[in-house]
Amino acid sequence: MLNKFYITTTIPYANADPHIGFALEILYADIMARYRRLLGDDVYFLTGTDEHGQKMLKTAKEAGQPVEKFAAEKSAKFQSLADQCNISNNDFIRTTEERHIKRAKKFWELAQKNGDIYKKQYSGLYCVGCESFKTEKDLMDGKCSLHNTAPEILTEENYFFRLSRFQKSLEKLFKKNKSFVYPASRYNEMQNVLRSGLEDISISREKKKLPWGIEVPGDAEQVMYVWFDALTNYITALGWGSADESLFKKYWPADAHVVGKDVNRFHSLLWPAMLLSVGIDLPKQIAVHGFIYVDGQKMSKSLGNVVNPDELSAKYPLDSVRYFFAREIPFDNDGDFTNEKFVERYNADLANGIGNLTSRVLTMVEKTGGVVPAAEKKNAKWQSLVTKTWKEYAGFLAQWRFDRALETVWKFVSFCDQTISEKQPWKMVKQLSFPRKRESMSELEDLLFYLCESLRQIAVMLLPFMPDTTDKIFVRLGLDAGKELAKSFSELRTWTDISGNKISKGEPLFPRI
Ligand SMILES: [Zn+2]
Repeated sequence: MLNKFYITTTIPYANADPHIGFALEILYADIMARYRRLLGDDVYFLTGTDEHGQKMLKTAKEAGQPVEKFAAEKSAKFQSLADQCNISNNDFIRTTEERHIKRAKKFWELAQKNGDIYKKQYSGLYCVGCESFKTEKDLMDGKCSLHNTAPEILTEENYFFRLSRFQKSLEKLFKKNKSFVYPASRYNEMQNVLRSGLEDISISREKKKLPWGIEVPGDAEQVMYVWFDALTNYITALGWGSADESLFKKYWPADAHVVGKDVNRFHSLLWPAMLLSVGIDLPKQIAVHGFIYVDGQKMSKSLGNVVNPDELSAKYPLDSVRYFFAREIPFDNDGDFTNEKFVERYNADLANGIGNLTSRVLTMVEKTGGVVPAAEKKNAKWQSLVTKTWKEYAGFLAQWRFDRALETVWKFVSFCDQTISEKQPWKMVKQLSFPRKRESMSELEDLLFYLCESLRQIAVMLLPFMPDTTDKIFVRLGLDAGKELAKSFSELRTWTDISGNKISKGEPLFPRI
């Protein structure tokens, strides 16, 4: 039986074009999804768009467009971002789809039946940017700290979710499962929120004030609060609540919800409480990543520093963009994007690193006949270095430390480069034109074999991060990429005799910029 692995991104609020902040999230999830597939897991990877709520309606109005059309256009941009970034998602859900709406209503009905939804008059401070009510302690100088805007006072009769009822169960969950929220700093933040006590939350709005949302079952005058609608996407996309629940039965509970630090609370506290209310198993982990800054500042339209992923992938090879984010922005913290940093990493790690190593090795093989030579002597030290690299790599990936995993691979790339500099195989290649000395031939052949097989090993390690580059290295080594990827993980990472393969040097993998 295959291990199943269900991974999701948050569904971004599609009232603006996607920027690299979301590209980062979807890329992180893609790397993990591809890694788990490499391990042999049966992976299901979901992303999509969140399209209801006041912000969407407001932005559509400002754009002078009907909200349905506006949301559809924006959602399509997120879909094409996923395609452009070579994201391996299995499904893309929109909260305006019928399949979602029907099942989100069913979820509400169940929670209501179980006594966790009630109606009451409420007056509070509401931040439109957050789509949520705020308490005084959430505000800084009377303003939402995320949006830097003053919340409006809202008095309505709304439905409430009895979040307070789940205080004890959530405390137990957090006590029992310390890795429920990753990393520890984000887990601790949620512990603190829990300690201060959970209050019931408003989960609907009056329809006359907000006509753009899923109607509350049995009450045509109210629509669902956008979070109560959106969070259920993780199960509605799997067919929960429909006639065919086979995907849900197969893949739920989620193994990882990948989310940004600003929505940690919704995923780590509200969502589990909602699931407990209707009696559905809880996700195994909420993996919380940081923000991406541009030149040290938060991206914003007013600062004019929004970086569009389209521009990046138009200018640079896509794999280099994937590499940069994975290598430069640690999952568990914030990171910074600057053009200078990008070019620096590109030239140092890609053009001069893996790109240069590949062409150096293949040039020498070309000069000695164009075929990967056989090795006479076993180099146990070299092979154990590969084993060690794999071990460290797997350890870092298990902890979402993509940056450290790549760092480990690049240590091995440097080892190969250094060995070439020390052994100076080009001198041995020159000697070939003289009457052949069998000894130096065999030393050269051993070295070239080890370098070629190391390139193959590196190509496998890069698969989750730079799938196109993996293919390219395979092809250059005379391997059929399709056949290689059909192999099991243990076969792929086993030291393999690829001697006799006809290499093709090809263009440089990453031309210098
Ligand atoms: Zn806000």
